[in-house]
Amino acid sequence: MNRIFKRTKWMYFLAILFLVGLTILAILFGTHARKWVMQPYNKHIYSSSGLVGGSTLYDRNGDVLVETVDGQRKYNKNATVRKATLHVVGDAEGYISTGAQTAFASQLTGYDLINGLYSMKQKPHDLTLTIDGGLSATAYRAMTEKGYDKGCVGVYNYKTGEILAAVSLPTYDIENKPAIDTSKDRWDAVYMNRFFKGKYTPGSTFKVITSACALENIDNIMNQSFNCNGAYTVVRGSQVKCTASHGRLSFRSALNHSCNSAFAAIASAQLTNDQLTATAEEFGFNDTIDVNGIECAKSYFSLEDAYAIDRAWCGIGQYETLVCPCHEIAIMGAIANKTGSTPNPTLIMKTVNIGTLSYVSSDIATQLDDLLRSNVTNYYSDSKFPNLKMCGKTGTAQVSGKEPHTLFAGYSQRDDLPLAIVVVLENSGGYGLTNCIPIANAVMQDALDRYT
Ligand SMILES: [Zn+2]
Repeated sequence: MNRIFKRTKWMYFLAILFLVGLTILAILFGTHARKWVMQPYNKHIYSSSGLVGGSTLYDRNGDVLVETVDGQRKYNKNATVRKATLHVVGDAEGYISTGAQTAFASQLTGYDLINGLYSMKQKPHDLTLTIDGGLSATAYRAMTEKGYDKGCVGVYNYKTGEILAAVSLPTYDIENKPAIDTSKDRWDAVYMNRFFKGKYTPGSTFKVITSACALENIDNIMNQSFNCNGAYTVVRGSQVKCTASHGRLSFRSALNHSCNSAFAAIASAQLTNDQLTATAEEFGFNDTIDVNGIECAKSYFSLEDAYAIDRAWCGIGQYETLVCPCHEIAIMGAIANKTGSTPNPTLIMKTVNIGTLSYVSSDIATQLDDLLRSNVTNYYSDSKFPNLKMCGKTGTAQVSGKEPHTLFAGYSQRDDLPLAIVVVLENSGGYGLTNCIPIANAVMQDALDRYT
């Protein structure tokens, strides 16, 4: 009797063990099957040269970005378009992890969880991207003709969420791939799409966030005035220098002229670590954006244990803060919409339910929209952006031991051109005004020609 009881216990034990194992397998299958299927041992979708599934990738105009001809992947006929879209289209070998051929491999090969790896009746899927090959080529030319070799330009429709361009340098012609030595500075992070994966010191573009925090927390900020004599002393011996002696400035003109003295004073003397952190996190810092499964770099913000001098540097975008260009463009979208929200950026045409990024109240967004417009009308000048009703903020980000990066983030207020743009030029020296604004304008003028 006792022995039978013991055996029954063992039987139960083994049965439970079996069920537990089965459950684990089911869970792993559900979460990992997509990845397993894309492994190279599934030779019928991969060959030795990588993904050769017969799928075609189109840009938003129906132009072929890549297709399979006689078993070989063939890219767009135009070499400039190929270089400008390299990081979005990706390579068959999968070096460029955010490229559509890798990131969207499961859609392209027609794999689905229920039917498994394409049951023979299921054809590989073609995919239309939101990217405009021609506009991307314009962005590529605008950067390279001026001799810039590292950085990115992104263009995004803040009404629909569509990414029209995500051009990243350095790049190469995939039909004539050069010898690439990633240890050489020339090829630094060549396989990374800087628009999605780059993280940059924001410089003065961060004054937009500091302004939002000031509008949220300081009642009379729009009526305050500041005095700039070329520097702001936080405590004796700790100064933040300005680019000029601006004299007396209103809050608006302090932003227009990007006065470091005024913004260092606001951040260090009138705002707290907690307030700035709350506003930065409200705007999506320390969080990531998911673009159809591509996880963007996480923009970083921290003022933990920071002193007033740290807060002063933070307020002008020169502390530990880092921003991802795709996040920067989404911030511009939330302000441009005047709702504080913007559609989640997307790369795939006709994606349903792309979701919304909600950053700030519509009241604050509306005030920021007005301030960013005045940056152009009062300082950069509309003549730099003819017919665009442009808004935005430039930045120059000091980086240790090298020339500074320059940045511009902005958007057009035109109802028929709801586009935001971000330009980042690495180690370009100079200023956002002189380097990035002409590039932003060239790309936006091309968009104006194409879409209106
Ligand atoms: Zn100043």
